[in-house]
Amino acid sequence: MSGVGVQTLDAYEDTLRRDGVDDRRVLDAMRWVPREKFVEPQFAARAYENLPLPIACAQTISQPSVVGLMTQALALDTRCKVLEVGAGSGYQTAILARLSRRVYALERHEALAGQATRRLQDLGLSNVVVTHGDGSLGWPVHAPFDRILVAAAAADPPKALLDQLKPGGIMILPVGEHDEDQQLIRVEKTQSGYEYQELISVRFVPLLNGFL
Ligand code: SAH
Repeated sequence: MSGVGVQTLDAYEDTLRRDGVDDRRVLDAMRWVPREKFVEPQFAARAYENLPLPIACAQTISQPSVVGLMTQALALDTRCKVLEVGAGSGYQTAILARLSRRVYALERHEALAGQATRRLQDLGLSNVVVTHGDGSLGWPVHAPFDRILVAAAAADPPKALLDQLKPGGIMILPVGEHDEDQQLIRVEKTQSGYEYQELISVRFVPLLNGFL
């Protein structure tokens, strides 16, 4: 699918593997989605470096290895109904769509939601919808979800999102203050409550309430 050569993709895969992304399905999805189409044109030449990059609305496209590790930690299969909070460029969204049954994504910046929708359509991904809205409230009409991925940091896991997770479901999210290092957390909903596991240190933009 990607317009770049196999050498670029092999180097991309090596970079991802060095940071611990070793799930073949995740690596294949990341090779399939053309990241150069999700960055601003002036950064297209750097799209396969392991870097977060600026996107519109003063936001960032996440670092590829972090996208890979978050996707891997979700343990997706093709039966999963997934909620994504903070679609941004839509790059992570496209990878989720390749690996799941259905993806519902929310983005608080209307311009980003529109741009992401067009990119996903261009790739022919029809099992995904990106809507302009406040993801900290989740998406009650489509809940409960098998998996939830949050791409913006909150001080604590939002209660609405915990409520909208299916029993046995998994949520991956960064937790911490904006200007401090944050922890990527894996939350699993069990019969008796929630199990929390810290994964890695990360740095994400803040999860903000309301939408623009
Ligand atoms: N994975 C995305 C990350 C984008 S940055 C990518 O790689 O492109 C995180 C995004 O979360 C930003 O676009 C920001 O606007 C969005 N965001 C922050 N708070 C939000 C909220 N409450 N609801 C929906 N989106 C939110």
